[in-house]
Amino acid sequence: MRALAAADIVELAEAGQGRGPSFLALGILGRADPSIDAAALTLGQRDAMLLAVRAQLSGPRLDFVSACPACGTVLEMTLRAEEIGLGLAAQPAPQTRQIRAGDAVIAVAPLTAGALAAAEQLADPDSARRLLLKAAAPDAPEEEAVLAAVEAAVEAMDPGLDTGLDWSCPACAARWSEAVDVAALLAGEITVRSRGVLADVAVLARAFHWSERDILALPAERRRFYLDAVQA
Ligand SMILES: [Zn+2]
Repeated sequence: MRALAAADIVELAEAGQGRGPSFLALGILGRADPSIDAAALTLGQRDAMLLAVRAQLSGPRLDFVSACPACGTVLEMTLRAEEIGLGLAAQPAPQTRQIRAGDAVIAVAPLTAGALAAAEQLADPDSARRLLLKAAAPDAPEEEAVLAAVEAAVEAMDPGLDTGLDWSCPACAARWSEAVDVAALLAGEITVRSRGVLADVAVLARAFHWSERDILALPAERRRFYLDAVQA
């Protein structure tokens, strides 16, 4: 897996504008490891890889913030990427399994990163759900009872769907759990970093009259050195 360069970050942020985090996740993984078919990854595999990319980009520490649903106290938690991702990376990829719904036996495949990215483009949640269930079980009849059974099987299959943080409030002792959306986390960081990189480009282009392309090609360390030189 290769580290994302400044040009990757800017191009990814641009391509992902107005699309969802799962769409951007495919682009990120395609650049980090062009040898894999990112769309075919299960969500657990996708999230484990995204955590590895994120650790390369920003270091292994992840900061989380949550507000107590009972009293509003704001809590912070810092975890290392592997504390969340260890379970994901260590799990064998889920396999297609057979479920019984009424008289029918239906093959249900794990959800893929590609299906999730496609569903994310649909504004209507019901259409998105149907698209996901169709991707997991193309042969299932479109009856609600069957779809609900397929949905339950899909959720039970892939631990990547259920990466949660457990919080407890020191002020009122309330407890709650919150899902960690690794794709959304990384998408947000890519957007913020892209703006930072472009701001650097503006400063260096003005000072040295280098092209955007040449500045983006600089290793991060060297870009920082020149920025310090300009600002000294
Ligand atoms: Zn509380």
